[in-house]
Amino acid sequence: MQLSIDLTGQHVLVTGAATAARQAIKRYESAGAVVFHLPVPAYLGPGAGLPARPFLVAAVDDGQPGWEPVLSRYRAAGVPVASEPAAGAAGHVTLVGGGPGSTDLLTLAALKALRDADVVFYDRLAPYQELPVLTTARLVDVGKKPGHHKVSQTDIQQLMVDAALAGNNVVRFKGGDPYVFGRGGEEVAACVAAGVKVQVISGVTSAISVPAAAGIPVTHREVSHMFTVVSGHAPLTADEHRHLTGLGGTIVVLMGIGTLHQLAAGLRQAGMRADMPMAVVERGYRPGQRTTFANLGTITSAAAGCSNPAVLVIGEVVRVAAANNGHAQATAEFDLLAASLLGS
Ligand code: SAH
Repeated sequence: MQLSIDLTGQHVLVTGAATAARQAIKRYESAGAVVFHLPVPAYLGPGAGLPARPFLVAAVDDGQPGWEPVLSRYRAAGVPVASEPAAGAAGHVTLVGGGPGSTDLLTLAALKALRDADVVFYDRLAPYQELPVLTTARLVDVGKKPGHHKVSQTDIQQLMVDAALAGNNVVRFKGGDPYVFGRGGEEVAACVAAGVKVQVISGVTSAISVPAAAGIPVTHREVSHMFTVVSGHAPLTADEHRHLTGLGGTIVVLMGIGTLHQLAAGLRQAGMRADMPMAVVERGYRPGQRTTFANLGTITSAAAGCSNPAVLVIGEVVRVAAANNGHAQATAEFDLLAASLLGS
């Protein structure tokens, strides 16, 4: 996390071994401080080029014994001593689920991993705009480069592994949850194959949270006791349409805008009712969030103007949203649709 205080020109002494202190040093430098670094627990004072009375001592807990007398000496001189977390050991990869796009939906573990990172490879479904305030790490956009094709999955994995082998704490910052259509499994496998330590921090998946942003619970007592999360990246088979229809629960489709037409036709063909409620929730938790309510028979034309990222929800739970949120999200369009869904 960056410091939100302006320390321009102030002398700050960071204490602690280099590896543990490297991120605290960056934090204070980026807050404008003139940073001095004391890596070993010995009072070196002015003779060694360190200020006797810095503005602040930032004491990194590096696990070495012997810091207390040094810090006491500064305290006795009236210098405030702030304790700082140590940066983690270098050279590993953490896949971090970034949630659907709002920093409010990051986990504490995600924040900690970002704070400890030296380099972050991100794509654009995660709340990437906020990264500069959450980390001092080098930020690398692997989702899209202006004027370029996006970086291939193999290249992303190579970049991560190389950065970790060079001794960096690498965060791979992904939208939603790394293991839900996020290629997290492949990235873990690439790290394991290269002998790089890797861990995964779960995130809030858009499959549940984006319907929720529109007031749609994916399960609801006596309405739906299961939900199936499907990728719409490629059209489903006739068998899959039949199985989904047979389940009778909620269907949540990610990456489904491009194949919406085939999905609606396929489910109809498999016998799903034309008046089955549906919703398309675009840009959940972001500016321009929009929900389109329709039913299976009307969705193709109702959602003609919809674009990615969007989550589709099919099932009676959509009616629950209409019942619960009619007043909370009132728009003329919503009222009309809610009324038609509730009245039918
Ligand atoms: N791992 C991610 C999903 C990656 S697939 C997760 O768990 O959420 C990308 C798809 O996720 C998008 O095409 C869209 O269907 C959905 N998605 C992700 N974020 C979204 C958002 N903020 N609003 C709407 N859909 C979103």
